[in-house]
Amino acid sequence: MSPVSHLRENPLELAREQLARVAAAFEIDPSIAEILGRCKKSLIVSIPVRMDDGTVKVFEGYRVAHNVARGPAKGGIRYHPDVTLDEVRALSMWMSWKCALTGIPFGGAKGGIACDPKQLSRGELERLTRRYTAEIIADIGPERDILAPDVGTDPSVMAWVFDTYSMHVGYSEREVVTGKPLEVGGSHGRLEATSRGALFCARSTAEKLGRPLSEQTVAIQGLGNVGGFLARFLAGDGARVVALSDSSGGVHDPAGLDVEAALAHKATTGSLAGLPGARPITNEELLLTECDLLAPCALEQVIHEGNADRVRARVVLEGANGPVTPAADVILEQRGVLVLPDVLANAGGVVVSYFEWVQGIQKYFWSEAEVNAQLEIVMTSAFDETWALHEERGLSMRLAAYGLGVQRLADATKTRGLYP
Ligand code: NAD
Repeated sequence: MSPVSHLRENPLELAREQLARVAAAFEIDPSIAEILGRCKKSLIVSIPVRMDDGTVKVFEGYRVAHNVARGPAKGGIRYHPDVTLDEVRALSMWMSWKCALTGIPFGGAKGGIACDPKQLSRGELERLTRRYTAEIIADIGPERDILAPDVGTDPSVMAWVFDTYSMHVGYSEREVVTGKPLEVGGSHGRLEATSRGALFCARSTAEKLGRPLSEQTVAIQGLGNVGGFLARFLAGDGARVVALSDSSGGVHDPAGLDVEAALAHKATTGSLAGLPGARPITNEELLLTECDLLAPCALEQVIHEGNADRVRARVVLEGANGPVTPAADVILEQRGVLVLPDVLANAGGVVVSYFEWVQGIQKYFWSEAEVNAQLEIVMTSAFDETWALHEERGLSMRLAAYGLGVQRLADATKTRGLYP
């Protein structure tokens, strides 16, 4: 039986709807907006894999480059049963705005394979990754399209991408992929980078609102790479984490959860379910939990027109890509809920991916303190620029952040000119 998709609406249509709002607010040349609403290249590949039991299973994979006007395409690869081409296209567009907003010389890309990585053995996962890499090999490379982790993929998957690509070209080409393990040219701080960037946004917001994180309550959906480190960082700043969840459901304790105990429980049992001392809640209940800061860090479209009016947080920090639909954005804005949009809030990952690419090219590696300090400079400046526009023009943080990103990409596209 095929799984029920987490996508309520077509994500590409939502991404285009967001672009149309931005194009109107920022008076983007309609012919440029037309270019930005399409993806430069979309690949669909079939990936036959020999399973451990000797049978062959064929998976479908995608790789999409949205725009390369500002530099090579860059984006993660997602392994999830619901992955579709339109989802990957939407994710690649958001990557373009994100890179432009943070001033990183990359265009947007994304990839994915429709599969359930939890149902695959390590050997099957490795063969799947290597065959996928081989199928898209002509279209990727350090100056062409650079891969990275996303939902369902981790540093060891990146190591297999690096090795497969290198075996094909005949030498070690580290910069084709970021998020690699440290021993094969990864960067210090990359694993935590998305969450650290989100923490910097949460701190800047707390300062603007005059309410320190140590006085705030927090609910986080998705205790994976992004949500897990974010929970740890926010708790480290003194915030009270009242609710956490993963795909198995959530846990709630208004007095505050022990984040380290929750992470340890998930690491040993594989899920948050059954965490001692906490009340079980559903993922839907988590989103409606009373808290100051709500951080959806799992999948898209979890806050939609059917539940946005019941979100009780003051601030929504989008650790995930696309967790709030455009219809929900309108409702949250009307209700005075401040949304820190994905292209800003989770940009820390691609910023440190860029640092990893730079370090690989220079063959000169930075300390973790240097990486984190540079990340803070980039994130704080992107936040400040977005906040200034939000205040000056009375725009939502979404419109301000997307506007800055789209405007920069539109300018680059116009300046380069149309070939031929
Ligand atoms: P991950 O695979 O490490 O973690 C995903 C988490 O979401 C897991 O805890 C999983 O149990 C949970 N989850 C899955 N389905 C769920 C559901 N239906 N309800 C609730 N929880 C569910 O992935 P990640 O790398 O942490 O990515 C999470 C989000 O952050 C994605 O939207 C991704 O695009 C975005 N993101 C990731 C990075 C990165 O560097 N990894 C960078 C930027 C943005």
